[in-house]
Amino acid sequence: MKAVRIHEHGGVDVLKLETIDDPKPGPDEVLIEVKACAVNHLDLWVRRGIPGQRFPLPMTPGSDIAGVVREVGSTVKGIRARDRVVIQPGLSCHRCSSCLAGEDNLCRSYGIIGETRDGGCAELVVVPAINIIPIRESLAFEEAAAVPLTFLTAWHMVVTRGGVRPGDDVLVHAGGSGVGSAAIQVAKLNGARVITTVGTDNKAQRARELGADDTINHRKYDFYTEARKITGKRGVDLVIDSVGADVWHKSIKLLKAGGRLVTCGVTSGFEVTTDIRYIFFRNLSILGSTMGSKSELLHVMRLVERKVLKPVVDSVVPLDKVGEAHKRMEARKHFGKIVLKV
Ligand code: ZN
Repeated sequence: MKAVRIHEHGGVDVLKLETIDDPKPGPDEVLIEVKACAVNHLDLWVRRGIPGQRFPLPMTPGSDIAGVVREVGSTVKGIRARDRVVIQPGLSCHRCSSCLAGEDNLCRSYGIIGETRDGGCAELVVVPAINIIPIRESLAFEEAAAVPLTFLTAWHMVVTRGGVRPGDDVLVHAGGSGVGSAAIQVAKLNGARVITTVGTDNKAQRARELGADDTINHRKYDFYTEARKITGKRGVDLVIDSVGADVWHKSIKLLKAGGRLVTCGVTSGFEVTTDIRYIFFRNLSILGSTMGSKSELLHVMRLVERKVLKPVVDSVVPLDKVGEAHKRMEARKHFGKIVLKV
């Protein structure tokens, strides 16, 4: 089969399209013919490498996979060849107290397909049977692949960790990002007023089409000043952040008393200073969030199939253009997900 392989960390040149042996499913695994695989920020980290983190090189990236079942392992039940499926990207032990409580993303051995084992930037991928979610004919593979990682992350941030309530003012940073474009929809669905930051006027228009009530072009305006104006100087109840250092201090200042900030990652930088006085005087909550549980993704997929939540596809490109997809993402030219068609 053809697969994108990373033998060493670095720039887009380290993404090599190679021909390697077809993978074989173990007894409790399933072999998938990949039809579409979305690119995430995680793919950029896997490619570049992260100091202090080891990846199982050489490896195939790609965490958001949709395709068709080709072969099932000997002990797998309820899944058949030719089933249309999307893959839940989280890997966990299924035995620990976190897993058994339905919080598999808190499992000590938690991993992600495309980060801790080979992913879907390939013609074939083997995944655990427990990670399979069937999808209907009406959902295109390119749309299905645009859902798992970003919508799962957004749901867990906005609903589970952020505890959004009807009437809340929610600031979503980077509304054009995969997580941002999902978080806008999840917050709106739960009755919030959504303010989002974007880098271009075109992205502002698209964010409003997804339901954002107010948009702030952060290249032209200071988001803190504008969000204060929009909320009548009250500040916001909830900040959804995947940007990090560039927006940290002002995001905390923008929270009203009892406000919550949920962070799921850093596209700008991870070292910040925090004025702790804001946190105790205003009774603020600073919350971390990584992925979400399998049951949350099942819930999200149901809402996607009912067209309540809409996958946001920026562009669809062939697998051999994976390097260009990474470059487009690094240049922040995308709105929503860049999907590789296999
Ligand atoms: Zn576990």
